[in-house]
Amino acid sequence: MEGQKLYVVVPCYNEEEVLPETVRRLTEKLRSLMDRGLAGPGSRMLLVDDGSRDRTWELIQGFHRENPLVEGVKLSHNRGHQNALLAGLMTARELCDVSISMDADLQDDIDAIDAMLEKYREGCDIVYGVRNNRDTDTAFKRGTALAFYRFMSAMGADTVYNHADYRLMSRRALDGLAQYREVNLFLRGLVPMIGYRTATVEYRRGERFAGESKYPLSKMLNFAIDGITSLSVRPIRVMTLLGGLLFGGGCLWLLVLLVLFCLGRGAQGVTWAVASVWTAAGLNLLGLGLIGEYLGKIYLETKARPRYLIETALLHEAG
Ligand code: UDP
Ligand code: MG
Repeated sequence: MEGQKLYVVVPCYNEEEVLPETVRRLTEKLRSLMDRGLAGPGSRMLLVDDGSRDRTWELIQGFHRENPLVEGVKLSHNRGHQNALLAGLMTARELCDVSISMDADLQDDIDAIDAMLEKYREGCDIVYGVRNNRDTDTAFKRGTALAFYRFMSAMGADTVYNHADYRLMSRRALDGLAQYREVNLFLRGLVPMIGYRTATVEYRRGERFAGESKYPLSKMLNFAIDGITSLSVRPIRVMTLLGGLLFGGGCLWLLVLLVLFCLGRGAQGVTWAVASVWTAAGLNLLGLGLIGEYLGKIYLETKARPRYLIETALLHEAG
């Protein structure tokens, strides 16, 4: 395991205020990791400029000239955090043995990198950075975050609780990720699907070092909706179920009315009308849900996700 080349991948969108400090700290970190043999020679940081409109790219170019540990890629225009991160990881895949992704704003404690690499040396392919505090958040943010995870998992999108995009991925895990051909990217839900040996490392998440959050509430809501609809078709199934219940209930009600009628205890016309409306509405929803089921299948087929990734194979050499 000695001398494994590490790439730290950092997506940057309008981060001119914090970038100099981030690069300074990461340089220090990488030097110390290499000195201690925790990361191999040739370890680097890869800064991805996600179509920034400020001086982010000029800064990256400057760092690259002066600092042998800094590399950069520039996206043609703003594609969003997830896509920028994927671009960085897929670039790093060709260059490194192990990658760590983190935000540019230094909210993720970079000292957790040591523990992540330790887990990697123990044989883990994916290590999730998990925040163990939410005291920098408001009660509102804490509450909504918890509700968000619960709802996500109820809707069939499994994510790691309190994990954002601070994670280690081995070359092999990156190769696996490369086989997921999703256009609507939600890495937090996708990476757990890859499998392999995983671990978590806890860290304290701090405040943004400088600059402003690039994730306002509207973007966060979109993120949640994308997360659910891009990972699972369970919402459709919920609709089918509801339609089935409604339709079944309506049928039962009509049956009861019919029996009463035969016994000579006919109900009022309006009761019949209401019962029929509910039954018909249920049938409608059921039909929609069924169509949705097929649509969902087509949807997942078009993603053409890999059906499996082989973790180990015990084979004998040919000949
Ligand atoms: N980011 C990006 N593209 C975007 C928005 C954000 O690459 O369109 C990057 C940003 O530079 C940062 C990371 O994604 O490194 C997380 O963004 P931010 O810190 O603003 O999110 P928050 O921590 O507030 O959720
Ligand atoms: Mg942040």
